[in-house]
Amino acid sequence: MSETLKKGALYIISTPIGNLQDITLRALHLLKSVDLIAAEDTRHTKHLLTKHDIPTVLTSYHDHNKEEKTPVLIHRLKEGQSIALVCDAGTPGISDPGFYLIRRCIEEGIPTIPVPGPTAATTALVISGLPTDTFLFLGFLPKKRVARLKRLALFKNTLATLILYESPYRVAKTLQDCLDALGNRQAVIARELTKVFEEVMRGSLEELLARLQAKPCRGEITLVIEGQRSEK
Ligand code: SAM
Repeated sequence: MSETLKKGALYIISTPIGNLQDITLRALHLLKSVDLIAAEDTRHTKHLLTKHDIPTVLTSYHDHNKEEKTPVLIHRLKEGQSIALVCDAGTPGISDPGFYLIRRCIEEGIPTIPVPGPTAATTALVISGLPTDTFLFLGFLPKKRVARLKRLALFKNTLATLILYESPYRVAKTLQDCLDALGNRQAVIARELTKVFEEVMRGSLEELLARLQAKPCRGEITLVIEGQRSEK
């Protein structure tokens, strides 16, 4: 039996990180049923909705309009509308502006309902071959080198496997900073996961850096880095 929609609730719905088939039956049902979908990039989400024959109205919700848009969405939720929040890829709230809306809804006593699905961080972790029993998600590092080195230094001694998001334009610099801050460890570049050009590169930070210097890589990238080895 299909789930009955809760009025006045924010549904936090995970969508694919590449392959459009990576969407749950529950997500499709709810995307069809809600009054409105708040999407980070409406064109991108429209593509997914069209593929699955979902006519629900879209509105944009991204980093540059989140401050004006949040009160508007909260108002609609308080009027009893149900709204789905989706991001460009994966789970809303993980390194994207969804966090801002979710926190405001919690403060306002609005029900927030998770609809789980893919996220790049755990997808990269499980194919990394690095320990999965303890891991630490660092999201995007700060853009300035000094701040990045300082951030990485905080996690130098953790045994947890580290997961980072990075843009392809900065990935070589990030690998160099990881090498400088953490020492030469095993790491994985997980590129274009679930997409046609999916690629997983494994090696030491030095080896991966040399590889990228010889041939820069493009596309969406998640880095997974070994934690401090316990025997050290
Ligand atoms: N909310 C998303 C999630 O659940 O993974 C992440 C949003 S964050 C703005 C986007 C970053 O996720 C990209 O810069 C990249 O580091 C990572 N990412 C997204 N899709 C990916 C993919 N298909 N392969 C590898 N990394 C990906």
